[in-house]
Amino acid sequence: MSLAASAVMVFILGTILGSFLNVVIYRLPRGLSIVRPGSRCPHCHTLIRPRDNIPLVSFLILRGRCRACRAPISWRYPLVEAASGGLLAGLWIRFAPTGAWVPLAATALFALMLVVVFFIDLDHQIVPNAITYPGLVAGLLFAIPQGRLVPSALVAAGAGALFLMIAVVSGGGMGGGDIKLAAMMGAFLGWPLTAVALLLAFVTGAVAGVLLIALKRRSRKDPIPFGPSLAAGGVIAMFAGQSLLRWYFGIP
Ligand SMILES: [Zn+2]
Repeated sequence: MSLAASAVMVFILGTILGSFLNVVIYRLPRGLSIVRPGSRCPHCHTLIRPRDNIPLVSFLILRGRCRACRAPISWRYPLVEAASGGLLAGLWIRFAPTGAWVPLAATALFALMLVVVFFIDLDHQIVPNAITYPGLVAGLLFAIPQGRLVPSALVAAGAGALFLMIAVVSGGGMGGGDIKLAAMMGAFLGWPLTAVALLLAFVTGAVAGVLLIALKRRSRKDPIPFGPSLAAGGVIAMFAGQSLLRWYFGIP
């Protein structure tokens, strides 16, 4: 099978996983079970049938409306599905040709966790421990076969300590969830990509903050969650971190 054909299949698999992530994003911060009951329309509570629950496709066929009550379905659902598909297909194209299966599995899990963190923190201003604790452990476990457990553990501890310091100095500007998320990113990305990711997160956060205030979406006093910026920094570092480092340091 050609790389393009396999990447399309991985994209489709990613949209199915993304459909599950939508459930996690909605239910995890509300303390609801992520396995049952089946999905319902949040407006009329009609159970959504499997044929109306096909990632991306159903949204297009239904033109973004519930089949029963015609209430609009959030654009968030197809966006998360498309993002999950796109991220996994991108990682597949990057790692599959060289048979780098461990980095592929590690970055795929990491990317999907970041998608969940991005939207939950955006909606609820929390980064759930249910993501960061298992994420930290998974990042360290994946470091073992890559022969970098000790450096990854040190980077995880360093990133966590840095954010703890920022939290103390800023007096609550940075939350406990951000500290654990930074540690988890350190475990997955190791050195030097974690530094790239955190730097990108600060730039993204500053730009987003200025834009949101300029567009009057947030006032100067509103807290702006940092998790989405960390997630964005992690994803950019995952794909472009090595290239950015080579470009910055002028290494051919
Ligand atoms: Zn409905």
